[in-house]
Amino acid sequence: MNGTIIKMLITLLGVQFLISVLSNSPEDRYIEQFLNYVIESDDFSIGFTGDSNALITISRPRNPYSYDLNLPLFKEFEGLKVFCYGDPNICVKDKKIRTNIDFLFSIFFFLSGYYEHINPHIRDGHGRFPGIASFQTLHNIVEIPVVNQYVSLLVNLIRKADNHAEIREQYRKPYFSLTHDIDHLSSSMFTRVKEFQKNKRLRKLIKNHFDVNRLIDFEKDLGINSSYYFMLSKNCGAGYNLSTNSKLISELADSIKSIGCNTGVHYSYWTLEKSIDKGLLMKLGTILGETPKNGRHHFLRFDVDRSYRILDDTGILVDTSGGYADMIGFRFGTSWPFRPFDFANKCVHKVWEIPLLVMDITLSSSTYMNLRPEEGFERIAKLMSEVNACGGIFCLLWHNSSFEYGEWKDWEWVYLKTLEKAKQSGYNFIRDVDILKIFEDCNGQ
Ligand SMILES: [Zn+2]
Repeated sequence: MNGTIIKMLITLLGVQFLISVLSNSPEDRYIEQFLNYVIESDDFSIGFTGDSNALITISRPRNPYSYDLNLPLFKEFEGLKVFCYGDPNICVKDKKIRTNIDFLFSIFFFLSGYYEHINPHIRDGHGRFPGIASFQTLHNIVEIPVVNQYVSLLVNLIRKADNHAEIREQYRKPYFSLTHDIDHLSSSMFTRVKEFQKNKRLRKLIKNHFDVNRLIDFEKDLGINSSYYFMLSKNCGAGYNLSTNSKLISELADSIKSIGCNTGVHYSYWTLEKSIDKGLLMKLGTILGETPKNGRHHFLRFDVDRSYRILDDTGILVDTSGGYADMIGFRFGTSWPFRPFDFANKCVHKVWEIPLLVMDITLSSSTYMNLRPEEGFERIAKLMSEVNACGGIFCLLWHNSSFEYGEWKDWEWVYLKTLEKAKQSGYNFIRDVDILKIFEDCNGQ
């Protein structure tokens, strides 16, 4: 049912809106929509009112959306850091709640990438916002899904005031989105010669170390779903010519689909500057048998201000770029998929984001986390238990080139053990586009 109709009905039935806050800002409206996606209740729909009799009153002495570093205080409350005005406190009296914790701004701050937006000068050599410079790193919360926790706290408060509220079932469950960026279809002669020099085995010289079929076979054996992203052209040391490789890509796409997985597009390095070539996208679509509506930026070269407009204009419905290249964890403070905020037009984007939690290279690279395989697996397992506890999607990127060759030989077990552990822990493996059915259709909007 349409959200406006629900609100009209609730008003007619005399049920109060939930939150009293002095605001009519588009940022709050965006969070209102998000909360109605995540929380369900027979008693109310989340909306804002100036009525001091509302269930929850957030005392907000000033507008927090100043788009500068004049942020509200970020203080600890019951083991969780929140944006607030003064020492954080919550008072429950006569089934009403009064608080100086700004739940709406706290959620907006992380979900929108507000800190990245107000700090456009902080970028690495590839124009990416580095995790090491993030607000989350500053407060040691990169691997904590704070947005999920803010919503849980809010739900508990609503219950304390004798109202029924729940986080919707699909937001409580753990899902696993396994993704593969196909930067290369085959290993280069340079790679093969290097391996041959090391092993002195002729087999190493003729073998394709990056064979995509290896991943397909793993997934077939494990009975799990995943998403494969193909590039549109040869560019900056990656990619391939679609015309000369059309037969191979088409055969791979058939094998991928035959085991229940799907294909998508790996947007080129220069997407932020040049957008996505729609002609090449159509061409890839013809080869794959379906024009992709899902994908990820090559090099995770992604920007909260520029990427989503490009994706909306191209017709991309699901993106999985939202992680840091240099660190694992929750770039948007959440494991839940969400529709991002459009800072330029102050509204919601059409595309959905599945935040990327772990990229293989992030763990191993000496310029990023520089972990040993054992440490890498430990960090994955820890993050996986966070998502298991609070629901959402564990989005993992593992390249087809991260096997067999060089140091990756030592990481193969990490990949396979991660998938085994996810299966044993009750994760439901989904294709990226499946979120449109799971999360979009059942949100009461
Ligand atoms: Zn890539």
